[in-house]
Amino acid sequence: MKKILAVFITALLLSACGKNEPPLPKDASAAETPAKVYNWKMVTTWPPNFPIFQTGVEQFAKDIKTMSNGRLNIKVYAGGELVPPLQTFDAVSSGTVQMGHGGAYYWAGKIPAAQFFTSVPFGMNAQGMNSWMYYGGGLDLWRETYAPHGLVPFPMGNTGVQMGGWFNKKINTVDDLKGLKMRLPGLGGKVLAKAGGNPVLMAGGEIYTALERGVIDATEWVGPFHDERLGLYRAAKYYYYPGWHEPGSVMELIVNKKAWDSLPNDLKMIVEKAADSTNVRMLAEFEAKNLDALEDLKAKGVEVLKFPTAVTDELKKLAQTVFEEEAAKDPGFNKVYGAFKAFQEKNTQWNAISESAYAEVLKK
Ligand code: CA
Repeated sequence: MKKILAVFITALLLSACGKNEPPLPKDASAAETPAKVYNWKMVTTWPPNFPIFQTGVEQFAKDIKTMSNGRLNIKVYAGGELVPPLQTFDAVSSGTVQMGHGGAYYWAGKIPAAQFFTSVPFGMNAQGMNSWMYYGGGLDLWRETYAPHGLVPFPMGNTGVQMGGWFNKKINTVDDLKGLKMRLPGLGGKVLAKAGGNPVLMAGGEIYTALERGVIDATEWVGPFHDERLGLYRAAKYYYYPGWHEPGSVMELIVNKKAWDSLPNDLKMIVEKAADSTNVRMLAEFEAKNLDALEDLKAKGVEVLKFPTAVTDELKKLAQTVFEEEAAKDPGFNKVYGAFKAFQEKNTQWNAISESAYAEVLKK
């Protein structure tokens, strides 16, 4: 009898909810007004058809078109199709195009603090970055950092922890890094330089030939899936892990602030939720493709090796020196570094008894 009564009450409440829902606030998208169509352009830092990133961005545009019933049409251009890849930030900032996709650390020359919004040496993994961004104040800081440039950023994609890179000789001690010419951009490169190495800047397309010809002794790229496609296993034998320099690189969606403000609320939410969804899916695609690619690489005779603990311990110490030096040079870097560090310290403690502890338990 009680059960029947409960079902009856629930049914009554449900029907009441439908009837008494407050009317939705009206905005420019209200059904009775002719729908305004927004035709936007989006540029990326990726080569055409670049798997996961470029393909993921194209899917993002398609999803938005469907969800908005054709009211927001985004035409996506790969790097170089409309503007050179590294002009993505300026093109969106100036309003030449409305949207862009890339990595915040590409803009380190303009905004040193931007590096914290992608990945920094010995920083947080993808899960840590997502919690910092969405619920730890990271995204607010990011928006504040980009506001003077007329940009609204969103996290949109993550590589997961990258690999340490391809080496032509074994790294047994810190001394093996001395004089090592390695393609390793950004803060990671600065850490390597502190260890006596020679970091080299080089675009993705040049890496294979440089490694194969001995112009460089080592390189990092992304992870098994992208590294295999680049053929790096044919140019170096030792594949080291983990990618201490990029433990969970966040990719960014940037929207021109004026263009963003011109969107009605429902389209804004569609963009935001599509970015959230792409953020999850890109990481999932990386994870799924990396595990198959790793098997493939092993079958091709690649030696997968872990950096000795003494080496990563030393690099971790040197990274602290690099952070302190950069923070002393730039107040923006200093501010974001402080917030990042405070969150990471708590995250590391929790992680030690959750994800890391569980990974230890699973280890064979
Ligand atoms: Ca990388």
